Amino acid sequence: MNQQLRSESVSFIDIGAQRRRLGTSIDEAVGRVLTHCQFVNGPEVMELEQKLATFAGAKHVVSCASGTDALLMVLMGKRVGAGDAVLCPSFTFCATGESVALTGATPVFVDVDATTFNMDVASLKQGLVAARRAGLRPKGIVAVDLFGQSADHDAIAAVAEAEGLFVLDDAAQSFGATYKGRRLGGIGNIMATSFFPAKPFGCYGDGGAIFTDDADFAEVLRSIRVHGQGSDKYDNIRLGLTGRLDTMQAAVLLQKLTIFEDEIAARNVVAERYARGLGNMVTVPRVAAGNLSVWAQYTIRLPKGNRDGFAAALKASGIPTAVYYTKSMHQQTAYRHFPVADGGLPVSEALSADVISLPMHPYLDEPTQARVIAAVRDAVSG
Ligand SMILES: *Cc1c(COP(=O)(O)O)cnc(C)c1O
Repeated sequence: MNQQLRSESVSFIDIGAQRRRLGTSIDEAVGRVLTHCQFVNGPEVMELEQKLATFAGAKHVVSCASGTDALLMVLMGKRVGAGDAVLCPSFTFCATGESVALTGATPVFVDVDATTFNMDVASLKQGLVAARRAGLRPKGIVAVDLFGQSADHDAIAAVAEAEGLFVLDDAAQSFGATYKGRRLGGIGNIMATSFFPAKPFGCYGDGGAIFTDDADFAEVLRSIRVHGQGSDKYDNIRLGLTGRLDTMQAAVLLQKLTIFEDEIAARNVVAERYARGLGNMVTVPRVAAGNLSVWAQYTIRLPKGNRDGFAAALKASGIPTAVYYTKSMHQQTAYRHFPVADGGLPVSEALSADVISLPMHPYLDEPTQARVIAAVRDAVSG
């Protein structure tokens, strides 16, 4: 490899490449908002909600200020609180369990599947046992579609139905992904997503949205989004938030939506190249048959004990890596005291010890990716 190539560092994600591709369309979209001055509840917000609903195949979309607010608003709408248990995977971003704890309910952590990194349904059942033994009322499940891939929603729905629980799908990392050929948000459960810039479908600040087929619940969410307002704006009928998505972010997202399907296809090309280049050296991620991942992360598993050395070797070649997540939620200070499923969470703990994520974005070209693949192979064999 020549020295000049080696000295250029690779981007972990490349928001700038996407910005250049969209060019002046973004400037013009933001300019229109600066002209009409409806910075909150502007026409772009309504247009975005309608286009997202069509994209995902959902009846109603309620945009909001972040992915965390999306989760929290659903849990508030479901009236979970003290004494209630909400089951969620431990190997996830902290907002999954944090939103549960913020309502006063108890997150009960369950283990994940070693292949998909998503909720293990056998452990979910063991989580219900642990919740009841702790004297809690199980109310709901937060399923997570981690790193861009759908959880096993039919299996989770079967448990939820048998136990009378609601399912909230945390698709913060997986907007655009499909489950058995249908897009998340359009598969019948309530879905929450995030538009944080680093997510596969991100804006230029914070944002999020909730997808539901239930018109009454969508109305509850719209009320919660503005301080629990009712039909008389001086008589608030429930607790709520300042939970709105601002118009500028909606304008940006409308432009990004025009290229999103193309970006999803490009991410899948990148993932296929990684699988071909690395599949015989490390454990590469697998997508369940019938599903399409949006590859929020490309996360591999390393042989035990050499992750720091591996990351340092890649860094020396100008290749950034990241570890999602060095601690599962039940291993973190703020969440250690919450119950975990009977049988413990051995897979979450093993993943936290040996996963590492490689550069992944739709604009990762073949020569640059070849450098990443060569460096990974060198680091693993050397
Ligand atoms: C990013 C993320 C969230 C939170 O989204 P924000 O927009 O950052 O609040 C929630 N859950 C998961 C799994 C995430 O990755």
